Amino acid sequence: MKKSKYPIIWTKENFSIKIFCSIPNIATGILIKAENAHFIVDPGDGILRDLNKELKIKDIVNISDVFVTHGHHDHVGGVWSLLTYLRVMNKKTPLVIHYPKGCLEIVHIYNAFKKVYSNNITYDLILKEISNDKSFTSKKVLIKPFPVIHKEYLSDNKTTRQVPALGFKFTFKDLKICYGGDTAYCEDLVKHAKGSDLAILEAGHDDDTPDEMHMTLSEAKSIGRTAKEYYLVHVPE
Ligand SMILES: [Zn+2]
Ligand SMILES: [Zn+2]
Repeated sequence: MKKSKYPIIWTKENFSIKIFCSIPNIATGILIKAENAHFIVDPGDGILRDLNKELKIKDIVNISDVFVTHGHHDHVGGVWSLLTYLRVMNKKTPLVIHYPKGCLEIVHIYNAFKKVYSNNITYDLILKEISNDKSFTSKKVLIKPFPVIHKEYLSDNKTTRQVPALGFKFTFKDLKICYGGDTAYCEDLVKHAKGSDLAILEAGHDDDTPDEMHMTLSEAKSIGRTAKEYYLVHVPE
């Protein structure tokens, strides 16, 4: 296990992941590169600043896919500015946003964006709702979505509900990166992290008693040890 000091960078052959940050309740921001393709995962607040430090504008405007694990603000806070920025920068290639079925945040950001800019959007913006765990491919990367357990409190601060939430496993050539998003300990994550070249695991729960929102440090480590390498993220600061 390596300490989560940001950014976290992992590269093998032509496949890499850079985690700009992953701080619970504040922001997440992840960039995946597979040869010349760039994907963004969980664009939280600050994603434009981080992308601009990392990539040339021509690479940013050619980003093809955004993957959203769930709609909490620390994972989608940068979506509006990203969509608008790409329009201002005259993006011409399509952008696909993959998101879990029922994630209202993405649907409403998309609708608001379409409404505000109506006929004035320079690129095709495509929403792809994920409603099952079927694999699909983009830019030679195989993407396997899987359901995770992630709850949130309602306004009474006692009752909880499951939010639409996914993890993603990205496979390029023989290399596998498993990112669980925000999740409690769950069997789907155990299965997909196992044997991965890299597992990115949240350890967002700050005590030792498991809950249904985040993993404890020891839960996350126990899964991480089944992958070839792992990083713990979303650890409360
Ligand atoms: Zn989070
Ligand atoms: Zn969350």
